[in-house]
Amino acid sequence: MTATRSQALFERAAAVTPGGVNSPVRAFHSVGGTPRFMVRAAGPHLWDADGNRYVDLVSSWGPMILGHAHPDVVEAVRSAAVHGLSFGTPTEGEIELAEEIIDRVAPVNQVRLVNSGTEATMSAIRLARGFTERRKVVKFAGCYHGHVDALLAQAGSGVATLGLPTTPGVTGAQAADTLVLPYNDIDAVRAAFAANPGEIACVITEAAAGNMGAVAPKPGFNAALRDLCHAEGALLVVDEVMTGFRVSRAGWFGLENVAGDLYTFGKVMSGGLPAAAFGGRAEVMAKLAPSGPVYQAGTLSGNPVAVAAGLATLRAATDEVYRTLDANATRLGALLTTALSEADVPHRVQFAGNLVSVFFTEDEVTDYAGAQAAQTWRFPPFFHALLERGVYPPPSAFEAWFVNAAMTEEDFDLIADALPHAARAAKEAQR
Ligand code: PLP
Repeated sequence: MTATRSQALFERAAAVTPGGVNSPVRAFHSVGGTPRFMVRAAGPHLWDADGNRYVDLVSSWGPMILGHAHPDVVEAVRSAAVHGLSFGTPTEGEIELAEEIIDRVAPVNQVRLVNSGTEATMSAIRLARGFTERRKVVKFAGCYHGHVDALLAQAGSGVATLGLPTTPGVTGAQAADTLVLPYNDIDAVRAAFAANPGEIACVITEAAAGNMGAVAPKPGFNAALRDLCHAEGALLVVDEVMTGFRVSRAGWFGLENVAGDLYTFGKVMSGGLPAAAFGGRAEVMAKLAPSGPVYQAGTLSGNPVAVAAGLATLRAATDEVYRTLDANATRLGALLTTALSEADVPHRVQFAGNLVSVFFTEDEVTDYAGAQAAQTWRFPPFFHALLERGVYPPPSAFEAWFVNAAMTEEDFDLIADALPHAARAAKEAQR
C-alpha cells in the first residue's frame, strides 16, 4: 500500500497547521508513519488520497454507528442545508433533538445543545459549581472529558497518547480545584469527600471509561458514586459523550440504570457534524441562562444542519442497529483474542458495552495505572500490520475501537486475515 499522496499532504499540512493535524491523535505520533488523509467514506469503509480502502474501526471516534454517509443522514443534511445553514434563532429541530434525547435517557429532563463534547463538559462543570456554590471537582485519572482546562489533569485519550503529564497553559489556579483520583476506587472518592467537606461541587466520570482503552466501571462503582455525591450535597456528572446512544439506545444509562444529575453527550447525537449537549435534572438545568444565572451560550449552538444529522442518526438507530453493534463488537473481540492467543502475545481484550480495546498485558485493566503498565510498545507494529492490510484501528494504544453497524462478512474476513500478521508483529516487537 502506498501513502505517497498522504505523505505529500501531511508535509503541506505541517507548514500551515501545528503537527499537520487539527486534533493531535490524528498525527500518528505514538505509532509513527504517515497519517492517512481520507477523501471519502461510505458504509464501513474509508478511502485515502492514494486510493487505498480501509475497514474503519474508528468510526470518526464514535459518531458513525450507522456507518459512513448513511442515506437517511445524508438526505436529512441535504434538505436542512437547502433551507438555510444557520439562523441564530430557535428552530423546531432543536426541540425534536432535545425530545429524542430526553425520551431515551430518563434522568435527563432538559437539554442544552452545544458544539462539542468539550463545551458540554465545560458547561456542565460550570453549572454544577453554580448550582452547588462550591468550587472543587473530582475527576478520574485516565478519563478524558475534552480539553477543558480544569479537566486535563491526567486525562486519557490524546494526552495519554502523547505522554503529557498535564499541559502547559493550564494555570495552577485552574488545576487547583481539580482532585484527580484513581478510576474504580470508591474508597479514594470517600476519602476526598472527607478531606474536603462541603467543598466538592461534583464528581465527573465517563459513564464507562473509553479514553484509556475500554475500562468498564466495576459493578456498583457508578451507583456508589451517585450515593456518595448525594450524601455529600454534590452532583454526579456522567460523561456519555463516547458511550451515549452507542452502547445502547439510552447509552450506558440503558445498561446500568444509575441516574446521574447531569449528563454530557456528543458524537452519535451529532451524526458526525459538530453538535453536542448537556442535560439533566430540571432543578439543576433551571439555573442555566436565560432561566437562571449561570451563563452559557453559542453562536452556532443547535445549528440546523447538525441537528438534522443528529436526529436522522438517532431515528435510524433502531434496536436492530444496537444488536448489530453489540454482535460486531463481540465478533471483533473474539478475532482479536484468537489471533493474539495463537501468536502467544500477552493480551487482554476488554469491553465496555460495545467499545472494544486491546491491552498488551495479562492482567485485567481497571484503571489508568493498569493501562499505562501494559506493553504499549507492542502496539505500533500491530497497528501498522493492520493498516497495511486495509484495516484502520485507532492509532493509539489508549483508545477504544469503535465498530459500526454497516460492517459486512467481507469486512470481518478481511480483519480475520489481517490479524494473524498483526499479532505476529506484536509478538516480535522490540521494547
Ligand atoms: N468526553 C468524552 C468521554 C470524550 O470521549 C470526548 C472526546 O473524545 C469528549 C468528552 C470531548 O469531546 P469533543 O472532542 O467533541 O470536544
